Amino acid sequence: MKVIVAGSGIIGIASAYYLAKAGHEVTVIEQESESALGTSFANAGQLSYGMSSPWAGPGIPIKAMKWLVAKYAPLVINPKLTWLTIKFLFKILKNCTAGRYKINKSRMVRISQYSKQAIAEVVKEHGFDFELRSHGLLQVFRTQAQLEAAQKDMAVLDAYQVKYQKLDVAGCIEAEPALVHVKDKLTGGLRYLEDQSANCFLFASHLTQVCKAMGVKFDFNVSIEKIKFDRQKVTGIQTDKGDYTADKYVIALGSDSADVLSPLGIHLPVYPVKGYSITMPVKRDLDAPQGTLMDETYKVAITRLGDFVRVAGIAELTGYDKTLSASGDRITQFVLKDLFPKAVEQVPDDHLWAGLRPMTPDGTPIIGKTPYNNLLLNTGHGTLGWTMSLGSGKIINSIVSGETPEIDIEGLDMFRYQ
Ligand SMILES: Cc1cc2nc3c(=O)[nH]c(=O)nc-3n(C[C@H](O)[C@H](O)[C@H](O)COP(=O)(O)OP(=O)(O)OC[C@H]3O[C@@H](n4cnc5c(N)ncnc54)[C@H](O)[C@@H]3O)c2cc1C
Repeated sequence: MKVIVAGSGIIGIASAYYLAKAGHEVTVIEQESESALGTSFANAGQLSYGMSSPWAGPGIPIKAMKWLVAKYAPLVINPKLTWLTIKFLFKILKNCTAGRYKINKSRMVRISQYSKQAIAEVVKEHGFDFELRSHGLLQVFRTQAQLEAAQKDMAVLDAYQVKYQKLDVAGCIEAEPALVHVKDKLTGGLRYLEDQSANCFLFASHLTQVCKAMGVKFDFNVSIEKIKFDRQKVTGIQTDKGDYTADKYVIALGSDSADVLSPLGIHLPVYPVKGYSITMPVKRDLDAPQGTLMDETYKVAITRLGDFVRVAGIAELTGYDKTLSASGDRITQFVLKDLFPKAVEQVPDDHLWAGLRPMTPDGTPIIGKTPYNNLLLNTGHGTLGWTMSLGSGKIINSIVSGETPEIDIEGLDMFRYQ
């Protein structure tokens, strides 16, 4: 079968990989000059299979109010509120109940656990280097209240059979020896033992080569203008380089998916949540993180990637604007210096990056069928697209191929919003 995958971010590439493996004739259309130059380019690199959680949860509205006035706030809302932002905030609020949180988390964990297995399979089969580290993920706490709140999370983790360790300060230092320099700032941590970290861009580049070797055609520098349809069937994709046709179409356009689909009457609640990362060379190995951490206070991730350290975070609600703001740089640099004061020496000129997370209000991606019988979606992966990429690619291939997916796909498609 001829399949077009729209978008060559990590989700589009993962889709193309499994579709090609299943024997389909795959073409990937991408507006950039190579794969993963959008949001998949410089994310935090965390493979958070165990820490997969929606942002919306009980207690978040009150926390969000406090963040709005904090000096190093993890949440920034453009005061010129647009209708798009208001609608998104309203939908997030609706998902902040204990009941919704449980349902949303269970859907996310399902995909993440499936992805964990898929990453292991790809590593075994292809063996390319993508700076994978299997040190677990350390969530660090700076207050007693955070430590006590972790108790509640542990009950949820037990329910999902996630392997973790609750650590005191000495345990945190054992996991990440460089924290010894700042031990007085910490109260403890939670370590997700099976979580990993790796370079998403590097992985995407290698997997693109694997896909090409399997016969996948990548058409870069091609911009999608419109999806053409006739009644309940897509008839082609109009681009700036001409029309493309196939038997089935998979939309993996990240934050741009909603705009491209709305003329078809498909209104996805995917909002572009801007985040920042900085990437800097490590000065001395032992003064830098060895794996990946999440600073619970500032919601900032710090990850070791090869000889570099990447620090990422912040949720900025400002529509599709990708401008690099000084506040993004300030917060990430502050957290790095505060936890790893000796990790880096020089700050390269091009260290700052911003990307738009394709966020759904329930945190769960949108994977599956649409009202158009040959149009499928693999989008809306928000904060966890790297973690969920391969699992999502496997699921979309099963659906395209008319096979029963290996995991339960209840609540993953767009019809859950109806
Ligand atoms: C600061 C930050 C930190 C993050 N950290 C993590 C993390 O630690 N772990 C994790 O799992 N996830 C993380 N994420 C989330 C993750 O990066 C995203 O969920 C993931 O990259 C989304 O992949 P995607 O393929 O859907 O989107 P993208 O990578 O944006 O790919 C979409 C592609 O579609 C193309 N496109 C769009 N419109 C058109 C068009 N009209 N024509 C042709 N092509 C088009 C784009 O050019 C792009 O290449 C982070 C995100 C940010 C911003």
